[in-house]
Amino acid sequence: MEDCLFCKIVKGEIPSNKVYEDEDILAFYDINPATPIHILVIPKKHITTHNDIKEEDSKIIGKIHMVINKIAEEKDFKEKGYRIIINCGEDGGQEVKHLHFHILAGKKLGEKIIG
Ligand code: AMP
Ligand code: ZN
Repeated sequence: MEDCLFCKIVKGEIPSNKVYEDEDILAFYDINPATPIHILVIPKKHITTHNDIKEEDSKIIGKIHMVINKIAEEKDFKEKGYRIIINCGEDGGQEVKHLHFHILAGKKLGEKIIG
């Protein structure tokens, strides 16, 4: 996707502060952190929104969760906990149209919508 910000980050055309990378997945620090630790995890493949995940993407989505666990351990917030958020579409408040998982950590989150 030519005009996609996160595809440009994957290609290295826009710099990012990388946390993890493999052939399928990239994780980097959010440029405007909402919490002391705010990391975005994305599939390198362009998937526009959560609605666009296909059966063939199941493996990569599962792998993203394993990568999140690895990052939580490495960055030392595994035990304290964290929140994973996916914003989808207009009502979900998704601004960047390339599927991404927000990892929010480093403080006790109080603004719960559910729970
Ligand atoms: P969303 O609102 O779920 O689409 O989240 C998009 C996120 O991308 C926001 O938290 C932004 O701060 C973040 N963001 C936008 N541009 C960049 C960038 N160049 N590098 C890192 N994070 C970015
Ligand atoms: Zn993209």
